[in-house]
Amino acid sequence: MWRELLPVGRHGATGGYRRHAWNSADAECRAWFEEQARARGLACETDRNGNQWAWWGDPEAGDAVVTGSHLDSVPDGGAYDGPLGVVSAFAAVDALRERGARPRRPLAVVNFGDEEGARFGVACVGSRLTTGMLTPDQARALTDADGVRLGDAMERAGRDPEAIGHDTERLAGIGAFVELHIEQGRALGEHEVGVASAIWPHGRWRFDFHGEANHAGTTRLDDRRDPMLTYAAAVLAAREQAAATGSLATFGRVAVEPNGTNAIASLVRGWLDSRAPDQAALDATVQAVRRAAEEQGDRDGVRVRLTRESVTPVVDFDAALRDRLAAAITAATGREVPALPTGAGHDAGILAAAVPTAMLFVRNPTGVSHSPHEAAEESDCLAGAAALTDVLEELACR
Ligand SMILES: [Zn+2]
Repeated sequence: MWRELLPVGRHGATGGYRRHAWNSADAECRAWFEEQARARGLACETDRNGNQWAWWGDPEAGDAVVTGSHLDSVPDGGAYDGPLGVVSAFAAVDALRERGARPRRPLAVVNFGDEEGARFGVACVGSRLTTGMLTPDQARALTDADGVRLGDAMERAGRDPEAIGHDTERLAGIGAFVELHIEQGRALGEHEVGVASAIWPHGRWRFDFHGEANHAGTTRLDDRRDPMLTYAAAVLAAREQAAATGSLATFGRVAVEPNGTNAIASLVRGWLDSRAPDQAALDATVQAVRRAAEEQGDRDGVRVRLTRESVTPVVDFDAALRDRLAAAITAATGREVPALPTGAGHDAGILAAAVPTAMLFVRNPTGVSHSPHEAAEESDCLAGAAALTDVLEELACR
């Protein structure tokens, strides 16, 4: 499975993946998923929000155990983020059959559509639509960099954009969702596999620094209102505050007007991405960056405006399910299974609001993710698939 999937959507020059919602690489991934389902005699369907499901057993029976992840990627993403969870899910079905295990509940492998939001700018579109966190109108209005609307892209891929939306019926038939995913830091240490405790609250804030455009060669330093200085102070404050509160704070995107080498800027826009162990730490970090920016703005003659673009509250995964997973893996392998939080968003984080949800993490030796250099040891991947098999046997077959 891994060898078949590896070349799909891989860019020759960068070695990274460009599997974006409803593009040709995405279609190839979807065809691969259908083929895997067919080869195993699993009934394959695509739901009205573009998520693919492969069923072992009758979905109508309800209380299904669902596992899987996503096959799309960030621009020039790595091979493991997403696909490892889908490949492991099919591998776990095979392993259960080899063990002679028989599910007493329906079991499904899922490929959630448009998880990374690389093309239309919103992450987890497939799971957000299903859970009602994104409305059909909001989704249909999303456009890509070429001005193509999400609805039109879906239609071109043979889907009906009028049918998308909250899928309560489908959610009602799910008893548990387990997503296996490559870990995206280096938190697992000597452990091959861990379980997720929580997803940190996170958000995006836009800082606008309004100064005054002027000539870089003739304006005396004392006469300047240079927003770049204020922006620079905000970047340094973000780093300082993140360290002080045990959070993460990153300015990774900036826009400058007029953006001329020989001009003092009139406006600098900087986007702050921040994530923290709890909401209080997140709020404290952002407010401290704001205060530092405003104080520096007073000195620079620069007006600072802060706009909250999005905030996702903390996701605490179902503790009973998480402990049951860890116990099942420990019983089968004799190994300790640590529970760790993550700062990254996942479909599991969206599903957690609607159904009991858990995550398994597979060790990432370098901690690199969202990059062509993302890697995992084959032995760790196999340990992850075996752990997922133990978990599915515990949940679906006992
Ligand atoms: Zn992912």
